[in-house]
Order: sequence, then C-alpha cells, then structure tokens
Amino acid sequence: NMQVLFANRPKGWVQESDFKIVESEIPQPKEGQVLVKNSYLSLDPYMRGRMSAGKSYAAPMEIGDVMVGGTVGVVVESKNEQFKPGDVVLGYFGWQKYGLSNGKGLLKVPADKIPLSAFLGVLGMPGITAWIGLNMIGEPKPGETVVVSAASGAVGSVVGQLAKAKGCRAVGIAGGKAKCDYVVNELGFDACVDYKAGNLDQDLKQAAPNGIDIDFENVGGEILDTVLTQLNAYARIPLCGFVSQYNVTEPYQLRNFGAFLASRVKLQGFIVGEHMNLWPQAQQELTQLYTSGKLKYRESVAEGLENAPKAFIGMLKGENFGKQLVKIADR
Ligand code: NDP
Repeated sequence: NMQVLFANRPKGWVQESDFKIVESEIPQPKEGQVLVKNSYLSLDPYMRGRMSAGKSYAAPMEIGDVMVGGTVGVVVESKNEQFKPGDVVLGYFGWQKYGLSNGKGLLKVPADKIPLSAFLGVLGMPGITAWIGLNMIGEPKPGETVVVSAASGAVGSVVGQLAKAKGCRAVGIAGGKAKCDYVVNELGFDACVDYKAGNLDQDLKQAAPNGIDIDFENVGGEILDTVLTQLNAYARIPLCGFVSQYNVTEPYQLRNFGAFLASRVKLQGFIVGEHMNLWPQAQQELTQLYTSGKLKYRESVAEGLENAPKAFIGMLKGENFGKQLVKIADR
C-alpha cells in the first residue's frame, strides 16, 4: 500500500521534503470492515493548516501520520453488510492507495452517470463550501454584485455560478488572463479581474461599477484590502479562507480596517464540516444545476500518488487550473 506521510512541520513554504512516501502491506479487512481502493485524492488548501502546530479549528497532524484528505474509490473487499465490492464510496482515507474503514463516515455515491471525481469537487466539499458561504452568510439578492477571489478554483468557480443563478452580477478575481477568460467565457461570470496585471483597484471598479455587496473571501491579504474599499453599505463577507497567507512568515496587515465600520459589514468565518445538516440540501441543488448543464467545472489532475506533494505545493502557488486532484488508480 503506497502512503504519503507527514514528515516535517514546514515553516513558511511547504517543501517536497516535508513528505515521505512509503510502501506497506495492503491491510486486510476484519469483521465489520471494508477495504477501499482509492481512485482520486482531493488536494485542498486546508491541509496546509493541518501541517502547522498553531491553534486552529482542527487539531494539527503529528509527524509520521498519513496525510489527511478526502478520497473517492471503490470497495474491493467487504466484511460489512452495508457495502459490497464495486460500491463507489466517498471517504476520508488520506494520501494512500488503500484504506480500511468500519463503514462510519463512508458514503456510497451514485457514480453511474456522474464522473467519480466530481464528488470531490463541484458536488462535494468545495461545491458545498461555496453553497453554504454564499447562501447562509452572503444572502444574495437579485441585482447585487458578488465578488469572489480564487475565482477559477474549486470553491470560487461554484460561487460565481451560484451567484448568477440567483440573479446577481458575478465578478471573479483570478491570477492571469487564461484563468480570467475561462471564468467569463466558460463559467459565465459577468467579469473577471486579473490581479496579477497590477491594476486591481481600477480594474475592480470597472468590473463592479455599482460597488460590491458580497465579497466571498478566499484569498485575504492585499486583494481583500482592495475589495474592502469598494464595499457597499451593509455588505456581507463570507470568510472562507485566506490562501495568500497560509505559507507566509510575515502576515499581511490590513490597512483598510475602517471599511468594516464605514460599510457596516457583516463578516463571518465558517467551516463547511460544521454544517452537516445543510449538506443534503446543498448537494441536491448542486446536482440539479450540474445535471441541467448550469454548473461547469475544470480539474487539474496529477497522475499517481507519488506526485501528490508536488501537486499540493503547486496548488498553493496557483499552478492548478480548477479543482486539484490526484489520480491514484483506475476505477
Ligand atoms: P483553489 O482551487 O481555488 O486553489 C487555490 C487558488 O488560490 C490557486 O489556484 C490560486 O489561484 C489562489 N492563490 C494562491 N495564492 C494566492 C495569492 N497569493 N494571491 C491570490 N490568490 C492566490 O482552492 P479551493 O477552491 O480548494 O480553496 C479556495 C479557498 O477556500 C481557500 O482559501 C481554502 O482554504 C478555502 N476553503 C475553506 C473551506 C471552509 O470550510 N471554510 C472549505 C474549502 C476551502 P490564482 O491563480 O487565481 O491566484
């Protein structure tokens, strides 16, 4: 069984040497257990947080642990009557080829008409994150302007499409022309600003001429600081993440803090895993949009578990284009 272990706690940027790849015996299921061969592993920014020792909403990983992560795969052996070989299941087996489970937290997914990987992206945790943050905290109303950073990514791409479906103006912020073109032409956002072009303030004003009512915040740092100056009164900020800060040793200091009061902003951080009661509704709506062709997505797929560390670091640097996955094995 190939596994990627957490080998070293990074300070600043993650390095490939912070991981260790090991081979071990394929585990054998005991009574009540299922053995799953993972097809895809999801790579997500939160994993960087789990590599740090500081206080956060989840306990840090310990050195030597298998890296955590969501997976989708196929049951190969079952001694649990709720699962049979061939079942496609969503699990949390981490960065390894085979996983053993007592069935708890293992979810069968209908993978006959839907590609397996979608359950880790638009129809899975990132899609549900977009849905919960936008609807529960953003509370979008038709005609409002919704800005989302990391707009071509797993979460951001869904935020903009949901905003459009609610009758809002959707404005993305992304790195580079190719990502921005995709956000507008393929995902159907009204506009997208390339923050790497160096004119964010002006370009954002042009893209959001009526000001910003909802800022779905994925990036933090200087981008958030600029967005703050263009908020309308009673703007809402679902604070989803701040990926620009996960690997820095000197955190960015906000200059425009006064905007929170001046614009009477409601800002709320949220963690998608704490809202399990909303997952069925979110999943149902996302699946409906997806099957009617109104929810598009794109993936960056690294081939082979041994390439997971490199792909993970690349994702944190914005080298991914859409949801970052690792293909571990064929279905
Ligand atoms: P993405 O697919 O969006 O990938 C990360 C993207 O972040 C990169 O592609 C890059 O896009 C952007 N980025 C990286 N560094 C910077 C930077 N310095 N400045 C601006 N943009 C940068 O990842 P996800 O969709 O999985 O995650 C997006 C956000 O959502 C993250 O902050 C993550 O932590 C958060 N999240 C929060 C959850 C919650 O429960 N609160 C659950 C899931 C995700 P570009 O090339 O455009 O710069």
